[in-house]
Amino acid sequence: VEKIGELMVEILQADKLHKDSLVIDAHSDIPIDVLKRRQAGERRVLNSRHIPEWKLGGIDALILTVSGDEFSNKALQKYTLDSIRDLKDDILECKDDLALAFSARDLVQVVDSGRVALMMNIEGSKPLESSLENLEIFFHEGIRFMTLTWNSGNEVGTGVGCDPEDGGLTKFGREVVSKMSQLGIIIDLSHSSPKTFWDTINMGIGNIVATHSNAAALFPHVRNLTDGQLRAIAEQDGIVGVCFYPGFLTTKKPTVDHIIDHIAYIGDLIGLEHVSIGADYIYFAFDEIVSHLQASGINYGNAYIYPDGVETAGQLTNLTRSLIRRGFLPDDIRNILGRNILRVMQRL
Ligand SMILES: [Zn+2]
Repeated sequence: VEKIGELMVEILQADKLHKDSLVIDAHSDIPIDVLKRRQAGERRVLNSRHIPEWKLGGIDALILTVSGDEFSNKALQKYTLDSIRDLKDDILECKDDLALAFSARDLVQVVDSGRVALMMNIEGSKPLESSLENLEIFFHEGIRFMTLTWNSGNEVGTGVGCDPEDGGLTKFGREVVSKMSQLGIIIDLSHSSPKTFWDTINMGIGNIVATHSNAAALFPHVRNLTDGQLRAIAEQDGIVGVCFYPGFLTTKKPTVDHIIDHIAYIGDLIGLEHVSIGADYIYFAFDEIVSHLQASGINYGNAYIYPDGVETAGQLTNLTRSLIRRGFLPDDIRNILGRNILRVMQRL
């Protein structure tokens, strides 16, 4: 009985810590669902479909992918602007519960007002259509993160997946990286090929994150990062968002402990001040996303089984419970859940 009492206290403490912490999911594809439903005539999609889940999971802010290389069957510059407009419309219809954030300060203000803060990312730079001017346009529309490539390469650089040769960052890619830094757009190196990664790092610009990647030493997958890459991100005071995507965690049935293993490994290697969460949940659009993944030519493992205990965003409190159980300190947990990535945004 005493043991059960102790456990209950531990769970209550963990839940309070989670609730009091700023919790940021650094990578979410939810706009796919929002746009699809809005095109079918549905309105207030975030409110009816996603906010309840975020509230349940104690999520205060998310970085949402509004467009990117995966949507390459479309005219991407236009698709991106349409997508941003649709997302903004949905956010406005749900303004009592959430708001767009354009800076770290905005994010904190929105969260302090009791609402969920949303920031926007483009996953792959094809939507630029080879023009730096489009980068400026996207910035003015509110884009604050951009992943340089998806799995296949683009005008900016080589992706992690299918290109026979790793050409790294192109000349235009260097211009894009410089311009991103000038404007204040964070550079996301998840999905970059090794050479694109190192070419960008060697520009020494800072502003570097990998929002959804794990440790290759712990689980060798082409989307995970080597120890050298992890160290390089830390040297520029960036963060790595540990990803819940099952194919990056294990070949077995994943549990929340596999996620904690990656957090612990990366924390030991480069310091917990460089670890964040980029859950990359796809349960709201399995079919669309999985067909993209399969077409990308990379083995993504069993996409359908998200880790036991945190299958959906609504269960995210279980991550904090598990971190406590594994001996992580409350202050480190707060940093991992949100303050680390906020620190990177504050530098913009
Ligand atoms: Zn991705």
